Amino acid sequence: MQTITDPDVARDWVFQQRAAGKTVGLVPTMGALHDGHLSLVQTSRKQCDATIATIFINPTQFAPTEDLDKYPRTLKEDCERLAGESVDAVFVPETKAMYTDHFSTYVDPPQVAHSLEGVCRPEHFRGVATIVLKLFQIAPATHAFFGQKDYQQLQVIRAMVRDLNVGIQIVAGETIREPDGLAMSSRNRYLSVDDRRRALLISRSLQLATDLYHTGEKRAAVLQDAMQQHLLGRPADRSEATPLSVDKIDYAVVVDAETLQEIDTINQTAVALIATMVGNTRLIDNRLIVV
Ligand code: AMP
Repeated sequence: MQTITDPDVARDWVFQQRAAGKTVGLVPTMGALHDGHLSLVQTSRKQCDATIATIFINPTQFAPTEDLDKYPRTLKEDCERLAGESVDAVFVPETKAMYTDHFSTYVDPPQVAHSLEGVCRPEHFRGVATIVLKLFQIAPATHAFFGQKDYQQLQVIRAMVRDLNVGIQIVAGETIREPDGLAMSSRNRYLSVDDRRRALLISRSLQLATDLYHTGEKRAAVLQDAMQQHLLGRPADRSEATPLSVDKIDYAVVVDAETLQEIDTINQTAVALIATMVGNTRLIDNRLIVV
């Protein structure tokens, strides 16, 4: 596996692959790799002739109050895991190589970025769209792989690629979960034992919403209410009363799966999305509700 730090070298590497007639898969990450990241790498390895992963903790998508400084950095282990998956190259730039002096050009993110995470983290998607477009320019791959775990991010990237005519095919990878259902996340390592137990309320609430839908409940508001009650430790079935609760709900909604706009009734594919604080850790997860 070739380790590349210079953006120009990364571009040359991708051009060489493409000149040789190969398809190239790009897998952007912020490191602290887990099996969710590796599943994207594995899909790229299956679908493309060559795979380049990137590890870059992008400062412009973190607000000053967020966890940029303490975001986990495990570069050596990450590179070993990528090599173990037979990735061809890893691009690991320094911040000053990506944001050179006088950097001042940003992507104005699409409409789908304005709700949910866009409200809770106002600058987040500007940073995400900007770094992803930069990575697409540096590594002009044929395919790029993103996880459904970050559902709104995936829709933002799809819209940006469509709106700005970026010649890259976006491939979505399913959310990889721990055996008990918790979505894998680099941030899970912040959770205390108690937090870890309470974090399970998130995937369980999403499951509850999909179960309710499949028993005939089509009203988004009812599913939302059920999720919120469950997250706050107030299950409808009192016999199963549980004291477990998350610390804060940023949102727990059921919205249109493409636009992420509010809906009254589920008549087409919807998505249940949750963002909560558990202890000091902000966790997000989602599940599609396929009609
Ligand atoms: P991150 O390192 O958190 O920026 O994530 C890099 C990529 O991995 C993004 O496309 C994420 O959506 C994806 N990803 C993160 N967690 C998971 C997961 N549990 N399952 C699948 N993909 C994931």
